[in-house]
Amino acid sequence: MDFFDFHHHKKYIRNGIYNLAKGIPPDFPYSIGIHPNDIDVNNLEQQFSWMRSMMLQNCFAIGECGLDSLVSVDQKIQEEVFLRQIMIANEVKKPIIIHCVRKFYEVISFRKKSGQPMIIHGFNKKKQIAEDLLAHNFYLSFGKAVLYNLSLQDIVRNTPLDRMFLETDNEAFNIEELYSKVSELKGISLEKLNEHILENLDTIKNG
Ligand SMILES: [Zn+2]
Repeated sequence: MDFFDFHHHKKYIRNGIYNLAKGIPPDFPYSIGIHPNDIDVNNLEQQFSWMRSMMLQNCFAIGECGLDSLVSVDQKIQEEVFLRQIMIANEVKKPIIIHCVRKFYEVISFRKKSGQPMIIHGFNKKKQIAEDLLAHNFYLSFGKAVLYNLSLQDIVRNTPLDRMFLETDNEAFNIEELYSKVSELKGISLEKLNEHILENLDTIKNG
């Protein structure tokens, strides 16, 4: 079985969403956005025009973009850049893949600006935050930490199958391990899990 990797940075993975940060778009699905850490205040307009010029045929989503309390870029500017990307997603009708570090309630406050599905990638926080995100209609994408983090495993158990994705992000491991772990946590077969993820992809694709 071939398992979909919702967010990754590896050009050799074709079955997933590659995060394009520079260079030219690949001939498989990718996302494009301005990561908070990459915001260059002196070249912002160029960054946005690069982004727009690279939104070609296989562009599946906008992102990763979002808010990060640990990067040095001013929070107000991060919010402006995030909001502009939400507006672009609304315009081109694509889902948004969100990077968020310690800014979940600020990200939630932007939910109503978006007419498109929003997916928090690499979710690895507390149960209460997961519940609040789900209550505000976010999807959660889980990564490697599910393999060993017991409280995150508990969150996975409580996340509806129609609201989750699985990803490798920057980590070097086989996505199949993660699918196996999640199928075990959810008490369903790998085939069923795979079906759910593919359905979810279809759902977010159509707004
Ligand atoms: Zn990433």
